[in-house]
Amino acid sequence: MPRSAPRPSSAKNAPLVFKSAVETALTKLGLVRDIDLALHLPLRYEDETRIAKLRDAREGDTAQIEALVMRCEVSYRPRRQLVVTVDDGTDICILRFFSFYPSQQKALAVGNRIRARGELKGGFLGWTMLHPAFRSAVGDLPKALTPIYPTVAGLAQHVLRKEVLAGLARADLSDTFSPGDLSQISPHSLWTLRDALSFLHHPKADVALAALQDHSHPAWQRLKAEELLAQQISQLHTRRVRAHLRAPVLRQISPDSGTPALEPDTPVLLSLPESLLTKLPFALTAAQQRVQAEIAQDMARLVPMHRLLQGDVGSGKTVVAALAAAVCIDAGWQCALMAPTEILAEQHFRKLIGWLEPLGVTTAWLTGNQKATERRAVLAMVESGEAQLVVGTHAVIQEKVQFKNLALAIIDEQHRFGVAQRLALRSKLRHEGMEPHLLMMTATPIPRTLAMSYYADLDVSTLDELPPGRTPVVTKVVHEDRRAEVIERIRHQIELGRQVYWVCPLIEESEALDLTNATETHAGLQLALQGVTTAAGEKAQVGLLHSRMPADEKKSVMAAFTQGHMALLVSTTVIEVGVDVPNASLMVIEHAERFGLSQLHQLRGRVGRGAAASACVLLYSTGDSTRLGETARERLKAMAQTSDGFEIARRDLEIRGPGEFLGARQSGEAMLRFADLATDTALLEWARREARVLLDHHPVLAEKHVARWLGGKSEFLKA
Ligand code: ADP
Ligand code: MG
Repeated sequence: MPRSAPRPSSAKNAPLVFKSAVETALTKLGLVRDIDLALHLPLRYEDETRIAKLRDAREGDTAQIEALVMRCEVSYRPRRQLVVTVDDGTDICILRFFSFYPSQQKALAVGNRIRARGELKGGFLGWTMLHPAFRSAVGDLPKALTPIYPTVAGLAQHVLRKEVLAGLARADLSDTFSPGDLSQISPHSLWTLRDALSFLHHPKADVALAALQDHSHPAWQRLKAEELLAQQISQLHTRRVRAHLRAPVLRQISPDSGTPALEPDTPVLLSLPESLLTKLPFALTAAQQRVQAEIAQDMARLVPMHRLLQGDVGSGKTVVAALAAAVCIDAGWQCALMAPTEILAEQHFRKLIGWLEPLGVTTAWLTGNQKATERRAVLAMVESGEAQLVVGTHAVIQEKVQFKNLALAIIDEQHRFGVAQRLALRSKLRHEGMEPHLLMMTATPIPRTLAMSYYADLDVSTLDELPPGRTPVVTKVVHEDRRAEVIERIRHQIELGRQVYWVCPLIEESEALDLTNATETHAGLQLALQGVTTAAGEKAQVGLLHSRMPADEKKSVMAAFTQGHMALLVSTTVIEVGVDVPNASLMVIEHAERFGLSQLHQLRGRVGRGAAASACVLLYSTGDSTRLGETARERLKAMAQTSDGFEIARRDLEIRGPGEFLGARQSGEAMLRFADLATDTALLEWARREARVLLDHHPVLAEKHVARWLGGKSEFLKA
């Protein structure tokens, strides 16, 4: 991209110091190039094109009046202030200034005609304006609305405005796509970039302000289309660059493809995935079969797979991962599986060992707190290739870990990992120009619009079906003062032989407080459930699990609960992801109002995994106030109304915006400034098609477009 020449200062004769202060402020706003200035759009507008009459004004109106100064005096009661009485011919208004310069006092001298703009307050003493903006009433009224720009301290609106307009005049605004291309979306979208920008920087006075404010105006449509297009081109480009990389071809050997018919009594040699399938205690759901085939197809190609497997909690992602691993191992390569927490990684490890070791697969376990000797042994197994499957936490991507031939990397709960960690895992295949296949899994379904925008460089497979036999979890939202009833219910479940989770509240930014709280709750529940016996006639055990516990202790608590020796598990949110105990039928979440929506959904997914009817109790507290806050109430309502992960995710997107979904992935990547994924779906779909057209047929324009919008931030320019 040709860098624009250094921007000449618009204030030619201003002292050097002043110039650099403005430059600094502009840089802070990210306004370095002319085009950056041109794309710095107003937050809102003020209407100085009209003069209102006091007679017609209403309380609370923001209005501009033109009036004659009748009186101007400094008053000291109740505090020092400048009190100016003006008359616009229809009524009187008092302007008050608590801080003022002598120059202002002079401009407001008796007999001057001024225009003042501010909010009108009506008291029984008549109209007043507090600290109105004013100027002397000379010259014509402006023809355009006055734009108000996002700014930083030390950069006044009028200075910024001048810079923006200068940038707008200098910038290259030639279209990268023609306005007609947008007409598929809206017949009113026939605006060029230049027209749209000039308009938005100074819209005519008669424009419908609402259309500007809610970004539905055609000029905004053009800008949003531009922005989305840049994002789509950049992602499509990244994807195409990846298509030039190579990966090991992992072809599933299917006995019925081309093999001659076998004699009826010849022993059939099953491939590893096939053996695994016959060993499973259940049949795959249709969704699992479909997704498994999509993954197998990707891995059989020469190009690295880059696939996201999304499926609601409990949809059975683990077995899909195991099947992919089996294909990889069968082809003679290594597979790694990485999970964000030790508990989750260990659970995967056990499950996968249980499935694969009887079939002759050698597995290895890698975590941060292994003893040195044990670790050395594991590292040697991984390096020699003896370990065919390596499961672990972040420890898997450490530099010391050298694989012999890693061909498939699986990341569970991918949103908990950052770009750097994904890259580290991908770099573990040490062959020039090659990368392992990458399978990412998430239980936080990504709404379609997000998948199409931020995740457009991924292929997505979706498990949209739960295994049969699940009973939906009944969710109850219950006020904290009914805690005793809830405990009664726990007792009942335990006596029926069921197991229960009690999730302790999240205390923001204080792990220590989390801990005290969990410990106290644990003690209280132990006391309350004293003397309760389980269906097996044993004394009910109440266990505690929190993140500060030593790994060994965590392990033994989890084991006791998993094996059914523990009736109630009190826990901080460490159980959030992936824990699988089908006998658990009740979950109580204390201070549910403090949790995010997808977090609540994840937690709730820990119950309802077996055949028993399950319930989730969302205990809430309103603290000192009588009602819950608006968003908390909406979250709890959503939880009670639906258990569909996609619906939850959609509502979460509405309540919180996209930031939370993107998690670590987001860092350093350009967020959308103008487009709103909740409402701009049609534009997004258009941008997706157009990106392809531009990259295929007008690569120079495509590059220009991305450079204009994303500057140095784009993958496009790095690649
Ligand atoms: P998640 O997608 O949340 O990771 P899991 O892989 O932990 O879900 O699966 C949840 C539970 O469902 C596990 O106990 C698993 O063994 C079981 N499961 C998976 N697939 C099936 C199936 N097709 N039929 C019955 N149960 C299944
Ligand atoms: Mg899982």
